[in-house]
Amino acid sequence: MQNDWITPAEQSRFHTTPSYGETRAYLERLAAAAPRTIHLTRFGVSPEGRDLILVVAAKDGEFTPEAARASGKEIVLVQSGIHAGEIEGKDAGLMLLRDIGVGGKHADLLDHAILVYLPIFNVDGHENSNAYNRINQNGPDKMGFRVTAQNLNLNRDYTKADAPEMRAWLAMFTAWMPDLFMDIHTTDGADYQYDLTWYLEDWGPLHPAVKAWQNEAFKKSIFPAFDAMGHMQSPYLDLVDHRDITKGVGNFGSGPRFSTGYVALRNRAALLVETHMLKPYEVRVRATFDLIVATLRYINAHPGTLRKAVTQADADTVTRAKSSDAELPLAFKTTETPIPLTLKGYAFSQTASDISGDTWVTYDPKTPKTYEVPFFRDLLPVESVQLPAAYVVPAAWPQIIEKLEQHGVRFERLAHSQAMHVERYRLANPVWADKPFEGRHLVTEFSATLETVSVDIPAGSIVVPMDQPAANVVANLLEPRAPDSLLRWGFLDASFEQKEFADARVSEKLAREMLAKDPALKAAFDAKIAADPAFAKDPAARLAFFYERSHWFETQRVGAYPVLRLDAAGLAAVRTGR
Ligand SMILES: [Zn+2]
Repeated sequence: MQNDWITPAEQSRFHTTPSYGETRAYLERLAAAAPRTIHLTRFGVSPEGRDLILVVAAKDGEFTPEAARASGKEIVLVQSGIHAGEIEGKDAGLMLLRDIGVGGKHADLLDHAILVYLPIFNVDGHENSNAYNRINQNGPDKMGFRVTAQNLNLNRDYTKADAPEMRAWLAMFTAWMPDLFMDIHTTDGADYQYDLTWYLEDWGPLHPAVKAWQNEAFKKSIFPAFDAMGHMQSPYLDLVDHRDITKGVGNFGSGPRFSTGYVALRNRAALLVETHMLKPYEVRVRATFDLIVATLRYINAHPGTLRKAVTQADADTVTRAKSSDAELPLAFKTTETPIPLTLKGYAFSQTASDISGDTWVTYDPKTPKTYEVPFFRDLLPVESVQLPAAYVVPAAWPQIIEKLEQHGVRFERLAHSQAMHVERYRLANPVWADKPFEGRHLVTEFSATLETVSVDIPAGSIVVPMDQPAANVVANLLEPRAPDSLLRWGFLDASFEQKEFADARVSEKLAREMLAKDPALKAAFDAKIAADPAFAKDPAARLAFFYERSHWFETQRVGAYPVLRLDAAGLAAVRTGR
C-alpha cells in the first residue's frame, strides 16, 4: 500500500481523529481512486449546513438501494458518531474502506455483502470538538460532543424524530432497509478487562427468526472469532450498583427511542457496540475494525441466511394483521431471577469518601480478577396491547400524519368523509414531567380506557393498515401507553385540555336538577365529600363534579385520544367506502 493512504488517525498514531472536512476529503479521494467499489453519497443536511455523508462499498457497483436489494447480497449498515465524541467507528471505517478500495485486502468481504457506512451521524456535534468533551474517556486528544447543535441526543430521537438529522436518517433507512445495523459507541462507567461490550435486541418484539440469526451469528460465531483476534468482549455491563461490581449486572432494556431498539421494530438485526472508554484509542479503533471484519466474514460464509430471516419477519408481520387477537408487548421490566455471569474485571477497593459522603471506588487495572456475578439478563413484558386492524388519524392532526410519513409508514387517505364505528381511548389524570427531556415535557402518567364510539371521520384523514412490515413502529407511535408513543412525547397534549367551564351560578342550578333526578348521583357526591377532604373543601371542584357528569361536558371530549382503532370489519368498510 502506498503511504499516502495512511488514514489521519493512523498518521497521528491514534492521538487524533480527523475533522469532518478531513474525513470527507479522505473519502472523496478514496472514492475517486476506487470508483468501482467505493461510492460517496449524502442523505441529508444538518442544521448547521453540513452534508450527512454515506459511503457504499459494493463489489459490483450496487450503489443504490434498488441495485443493492436486487443483488441479493446482505446489506450491512455501520453507523458511527451518533454520539460524536465516541468516534472509533469513523476511524475504523476509513481503514477498512481503504483496505478494500485500494489496499488489496479484505475485498472478499464484499462477495455476498454490501457495506453501507455512515462515518459521522452527528456531524454538527462532531465539529464541536474539544479536549474536555468526554471526561470519562481515554483519547483521542480532542473529540466531538454528545449531542447535536440543537442540543438533542440523536440516540433518544428515533421515534419522535425532532432532529433534522434523524428525519434524514429515517428516510435513508427506509430506502436501504439494511439487513443488519451496527451502532458504534464508547462506554461510560466501570473499569474491566474487556475492550468491547455489546447489546443485542433479544427481548423486545423482534421476530424469533431474526433473534435466532443474531444468536447463531454473534454469540456462537462472530464473538468467538473476535476473541480469537486478540480481543475480549462481553454483554453490555449495566452495573446494578456502581460501587460494587459483584452485585451483578442488569439489562438496560433499550427501547424504541434508541437506535437498535428502533431497528428491531423494523424487523432488522441490530448490534449495539460499546468500546471500553479507558482503553487507548488505538485499541478501541482496532477492536471496532476487527468486529466489523468478523461480522462481514460471517455474513459472507453464510450468504442469504440473514435475508431469509428478515424476509420471514416482514412476511409474518404483514400476516399477523389477519389475526384478531394479535398482541404486541410494549414495555418490559428486568427479571428478578438472574443467571450466572463470569465477569473479567479488576480488583477494586472501596473507601469512605469525605467528599461525597458515599463510597469511593477505585479499580486496579494491574490486578485482573475474575468475578462470578448475577446477571439479571431477561426482560419480561409488563404492558401489552391487542393490535387493531388499522389506526385512523383524523385530518386535524397533520403533525401525527407527518410523523408516520417520516417513518416510512404506508397509509391510505380518505377522499370523502365517512361514518365509522371505532375504538377510542379515553385518557384521564395526566401528569407531565416537571423538567424537559430532549426538548419535550413527557407525559409520565395517565390512565387509558377503550370505548367503542361512532364518529364521522373527515375527508383527508388517514387509515393506517397494520398489514405492513412497519406495523410494530406504527403501534409504538400510536398506542398511547407505548413507552415512546407520540402522546408520551407531547405531540397530543392539547387533547387533554378542557376548553369550556361552567359559571358557578349555572352549576348551582344544574347540580340541583341532576340531584333531584338521580339518587345514585347524590349518594356518589355524598360519598366523595366524606372520603376526600380536599374535594370537600374546594367549592369549584364540588360544582365541577356535576358539570363533568352532564351533557354539557361530553361535547368537549376532554381526554378523547384523537387516534382511533379499527377492527377488520371496520377496515373493510372503509375500503369499500361504506
Ligand atoms: Zn454513546
